[in-house]
Amino acid sequence: MKHLVRFLPPVHEIQKAPKFAELLEQYGIDHIELTKTVKDSLDGIRELILNEKWDGPKPGDGDFLVAFFDKVKSELKKRYNYTLKPVINATGTILHTNLGRARISDNAMKHVMEIAQYYSNLEYKLEEGERGSRHTHVESLIKHITGAEAAMVVNNNAAAVYLILRALAHDKEVIVSRGQLVEIGGSFRISSIMEESGATLKEVGTTNKTHLYDYERAISEETAMLMKVHTSNFKVIGFTKSVETEELVGLAKRHEHVIVYEDLGSGALYDFSRHGIGDEPVVGQVLNMGVDIVSFSGDKLLGGPQAGIIAGKKELIDLLKKNQLARVVRVDKMTLAALEGTLLDYVKGEESIKNIPTVRDLLSSKEEIKERSEVFVRELLQVSDRYSTSVQEDISQVGGGTMPDVELPTYVVVLKHKDFPTEKVAGILRTENEPGIIVRIRKEEILLDLRCVTRNEEKLVLEALSRI
Ligand SMILES: *Cc1c(COP(=O)(O)O)cnc(C)c1O
Repeated sequence: MKHLVRFLPPVHEIQKAPKFAELLEQYGIDHIELTKTVKDSLDGIRELILNEKWDGPKPGDGDFLVAFFDKVKSELKKRYNYTLKPVINATGTILHTNLGRARISDNAMKHVMEIAQYYSNLEYKLEEGERGSRHTHVESLIKHITGAEAAMVVNNNAAAVYLILRALAHDKEVIVSRGQLVEIGGSFRISSIMEESGATLKEVGTTNKTHLYDYERAISEETAMLMKVHTSNFKVIGFTKSVETEELVGLAKRHEHVIVYEDLGSGALYDFSRHGIGDEPVVGQVLNMGVDIVSFSGDKLLGGPQAGIIAGKKELIDLLKKNQLARVVRVDKMTLAALEGTLLDYVKGEESIKNIPTVRDLLSSKEEIKERSEVFVRELLQVSDRYSTSVQEDISQVGGGTMPDVELPTYVVVLKHKDFPTEKVAGILRTENEPGIIVRIRKEEILLDLRCVTRNEEKLVLEALSRI
């Protein structure tokens, strides 16, 4: 077999093949780059032949070049395709952490495009023709929506928690209920972040019960802050007691050097509980209770880009803006543009709030989803006879560690392929489509929850299923 390497075509011959020109065109790469890939592929095959491991057509045979170019093509795919790709989320989990949490609205995306492609007044005052601050851009929107005196935006909520503790409680004590010493997905622990920040954690109460007097007894000259952590990713049920925000505010009022900070986690700007969905406090309501400062994520219930939003008393926010760390955790212009685009929809009223995919998908009713699922099944049966199908009641999750106890009633399309096992079909949907399609699997069935699937995406899912 080894002698076959002598029959490998020379590079200049491969360059003359029509397929070579075709690949140049298809991948938009230049002659030199494609030649490199061709050489590497040839080397790979030579190696395989020498190790007696090449099982393709023999060099010199008519179909060798076809197999060769297949190899080049798969190499090109590895080198020149994005690894970060869009997917279709048919799992029904709205803030799917592994799938990028919130998807951004069209308005926000348009704004990102223009801000990223052009120069902008990111740190420039157009009226005065002078240097400005990036903090100004979304601040007035956040103030408008939440009623806060001041606001700022950092990289994510974890950074916000860190900045707040570092800037406002360094070398001081922060009192937290043991019931709120949470770990949030991806190894973010309140206790560890506290240690990093140089603030001293003073735990009070027990896992299930903390009373106001627990806080009261713990306050000393060293206390800078009473911190409340919204336990957004779990729920303690049964024999429990936690201290209401208003009570903490009342207590802090009696101690001039103590402020109240609430890490709201998801941070709803919209009152989902009005629609019977969860009991997440709206940011504005929490600030209204007299909390000094709050922080929350931009890409959880808010439905915007990854960001940490800090809102509250102006004198505190000013301290944060001036802190050295603010520079370390500052956001990019694309984030600010996406956030501004999202927040603008909140201030325009009920209808435009539904432009925000997270809000829209959360509010989708099960009847709506049932109807779409039934139409979907009818359309699928027209293009493929390989599936047994039904539409069944089920539950969608909010996800992202948000509203863990909330079950969103939904309907799912239940599919079973007549020829292939379910795992295989799910694998094909994920890997052999662009965008890849992520489904739920239950026992031997595929479940498609159309809650987070747009009409356009539905068509792609139909096509993908019909090809299997
Ligand atoms: C999610 C969450 C965080 C972390 O927010 P990121 O934006 O993911 O950094 C912090 N605190 C609470 C309570 C959370 O729920």
